Parts: sequence; C-alpha cells; structure tokens
Amino acid sequence: MRTKRAAKFGFCAGVRIADQKVKKFAAKGHLGDILGQVVHNERVVEEMEELGVHTVESLESAERGTIVFSAHGVPPSFHQQARARGLSILDTTCPFVYDIHDEAGSALARGEHLVFVGDPAHREVIGYTHDLDPSSYHVLMTVAEAARVDWSRYPKVRIFYQTTLNADDFEELARHIEARVPEARRADTICYATKQNQEAAHELGRDPEVDLILVIGGKRSANTRHLWEICARYKPAHLIQGAPDLRPEWFEGVSTVGLTAGASTPDYVVDEVEAALAALARSVGSPA
Ligand code: SF4
Repeated sequence: MRTKRAAKFGFCAGVRIADQKVKKFAAKGHLGDILGQVVHNERVVEEMEELGVHTVESLESAERGTIVFSAHGVPPSFHQQARARGLSILDTTCPFVYDIHDEAGSALARGEHLVFVGDPAHREVIGYTHDLDPSSYHVLMTVAEAARVDWSRYPKVRIFYQTTLNADDFEELARHIEARVPEARRADTICYATKQNQEAAHELGRDPEVDLILVIGGKRSANTRHLWEICARYKPAHLIQGAPDLRPEWFEGVSTVGLTAGASTPDYVVDEVEAALAALARSVGSPA
C-alpha cells in the first residue's frame, strides 16, 4: 500500500500567519485568550493551550489581558468591546476576510442589498453580519431559502461567498438570484487557497491509481468537510482528525491511499497519518 498526496493541501497562508503570530506572542512569555478556536483544528488548539493561550467562547470570559481574534475575523464592534474591557488585541484575521468586510461596506454604501452564501452559524459569516441592520442582508445556503425571499424588494444585490465554500455547489443558488434581480453581481470571494485545495482534491479523486482517500482536518472545519464531499464523489473517502482515527479494515484490498487536508490542518498531522499508514502496511506485510 502506498500513499499519494494531493498536489495542494493543508495550511493556507492566512492560517499559517495566524498560527505564527500566536506562537510568537506566546514565545515572548505573554498569556492570552483566543475567542473561539484560532483555526478549526483541535491539535492546533491543544498546542496553543500548552503555550498559555486559552480558547474562550466570549469576550466576557477573557481574563489574561490580551484577546486573540482568529483568522475568521470578528464583527468590528468586538474590537470596540474588547478595548472597552481594557483588553489588548492580537488580531490574526486573514486579509482576505478583511477584503470582504471592506467590499461589503462599499456595496452597502452604494445601496446594494447583501447576500452572504454560507453558514449563518460560521464565525466568518457572523463577523460580516453581526453589526449590520438585519434588513440590509440575507445569509442563504439553499435555493429553497432563496425562493422564500421577495427579490422584487432588492433591485441591486451583491453576492458574497463564505471564503471556504465550494463555489460549484452554490451555482444554482447564485443563478436563482441573478434571474430575479436586475442588478445582481457576484463578488469573487472564494479564497484562492480553498480553490487550489479543492481543485487538487478533484484531481486526486479522478486519479485512476487512487483507491481510497483520507481527508484530514478538524471536525469543526467547514473547508475540510467540503474537501471530503468532493473526494467522496469519486472514491470511498474518510474524514479523519489524525492517525488515531485510522481503521485497518478500510484498507483491505487498497493499493494506493490518496491524502488531502483542510486549510487548518498542520503539516505534522499529515506526516503522522502517512507514517501510521506505512506502519499499517508493514504490519500486514505489504510494501509501503
Ligand atoms: S482559507 Fe483563505 S480566507 Fe481562510 S484563512 Fe486561509 S487564506 Fe484566509
């Protein structure tokens, strides 16, 4: 049994920078709290805890003097609230997320109604919408939801995607809006890192040598789940958090295992999975 990695997988630039910023901060001996997981990966969260940077679920729970805002970003009002509580801010928001905040602000100023295609409970989407007048935007995931909107009220609409979505899956939704709104324009907000990981996942799925695919990432990571959905269209695919999740029975009769990982998965977790597969192959006497 051998492994084949996707041409592109794992940590994106935004997450890599967020991870480094927090580690640099901790290396100077500072303690802090991170609002929500710095990235959606349990191993990274454990690493941060060991460094003295704890995950909290609200600003009120922050008690170490510095609050870290994650790569997903936060509503602008959270910056004011943190300062009002006397907290210093370590902002690791990805620049692409800030671009969407800016573009949404400009669209609103032009009188456009905002549509965010994404999960209303995702922190990135909450960051975009929390401070807005609820009548100025919709968050939609399905065509059925879009069909319930009276689009005649919105002559101009700007469509944004949550950065980590698989755009293909939402084409029908975007077209539904475009067919009903005279001036509907899409903002190109799917992140290039996400696109590249998704394209490489398609390639891995189409690779005739690959029998089964492992998608490695945090259980709360939306982009990891999307990668798994892509891979599962082509081959048996399993979403795992790391080597301990491997089940030997998955690999009976398998010659080549494809590997990919979400944008919040550290490289060392992928290395550990590959090493565990090699050990598994040796234990059943197959060449690794
Ligand atoms: S996936 Fe893209 S938008 Fe999200 S943190 Fe990474 S680089 Fe930024």
